[in-house]
Amino acid sequence: MFSLPPTPEDPVFALNRLFTSDPSPLKISCGIGAYRDNSGNPTVLSCVKKAKEIIGAESQNEYLPIAGDAEFLRLSRELCFGDGSDLSNVESIQSLSGTGGLYLSLKLLKKLGCKKVYASNPTWGNHKSLTLNAGLEYSTYTYLDLSNLKTPEIDFKNLIQDLEGMQKGEGVILQACGHNPTGVDPSEGEWEEIVEVCGRKGLYVILDNAYQGFASGSPSSDSLSIRKFLSSSLDFLVCCSYAKNFGLYGQRVGAVHVVSSESKNVVDAMKQIARATYSNPPKYGSDIVKTVLGSSELREDWISEVGEMSSRIKSMRLAIREKLEEKTGTSWKHVTDQIGMFSYTGLSKEQVMKCREESVYMLDSGRISVAGVNEGNLERICEVIGKAVE
Ligand code: PMP
Repeated sequence: MFSLPPTPEDPVFALNRLFTSDPSPLKISCGIGAYRDNSGNPTVLSCVKKAKEIIGAESQNEYLPIAGDAEFLRLSRELCFGDGSDLSNVESIQSLSGTGGLYLSLKLLKKLGCKKVYASNPTWGNHKSLTLNAGLEYSTYTYLDLSNLKTPEIDFKNLIQDLEGMQKGEGVILQACGHNPTGVDPSEGEWEEIVEVCGRKGLYVILDNAYQGFASGSPSSDSLSIRKFLSSSLDFLVCCSYAKNFGLYGQRVGAVHVVSSESKNVVDAMKQIARATYSNPPKYGSDIVKTVLGSSELREDWISEVGEMSSRIKSMRLAIREKLEEKTGTSWKHVTDQIGMFSYTGLSKEQVMKCREESVYMLDSGRISVAGVNEGNLERICEVIGKAVE
């Protein structure tokens, strides 16, 4: 008989369920990390619409090879590392979006004999679940100074000290840009130090690249950390997701790029993991990304659409800050200092619960998805937050 204790629900999706079942006409969701336009609706990028027309109804739905579509992977590499980079040591495998890429990467680390993987404190909740699910131990390294969320800065001294304390052959997940949930990324100089320590300590590095384009508004500027690793002589993995920056959340489009003198053997090992897990990657989403990135016209459209999404979020950050400063008389500068899709508001769990009673939903950590804010709901969100922090 199947006999199991209840399994706890994923916190992000549990919050979404609470939101959906809330009958209040005033309810607002700032929970899930998905882009919404200024009317609060999900968007289909116009470059994606055009790509769908080009692909048309006649598109073949044959199996892709286990490693995925070679042309999609070539274009994904170019985007990930930037034009003109030396990619002679890089091989790639298509993945089920960012999550699937992380899964393949962590399973690979397990195969390589790695015992333990670290992610930032705090981080995206699934890093822990994926690591444990791959049969690895999970721990964290310092990221923010959690005692002072109103001036969110990386606690860099302790971050480096934690990296220094790791053992050769342990793994570390680093978010390439637009850090979830804090909205705070290392500076260029800090990345250089991180690369140096990871190399000297002999760590397995996984760069989680889920928000390329959302941090600065420019996909090429957002690959800074990846290029820093590429210009070192380190072996590393980059997991790319096209969920956010192409608005292809449900299509599960992603890629893992392996940088190593043995990258072919590494990808072959990952192909074996993929074959025994889901066999082959899905095709339609990668056809869309390939069509957009492979056409200079659609690619330009895409770059400007990513820029527009990112600048709408930036303008909402400013609006939230101004409204909250007006309502509370205290500084909310951290909201505009942060970048990417999320803001770590600094609200306590108790304050988050007060907001929830008023049907304004955010994660227990106080993280809001700024993409969920628009000119129509800004006033109410700020009023509810303002009251909660009184
Ligand atoms: N990494 C981070 C940091 C994320 O926030 C997300 C999405 N929330 C992912 C990876 C993976 O997302 P997906 O599987 O939808 O590409």
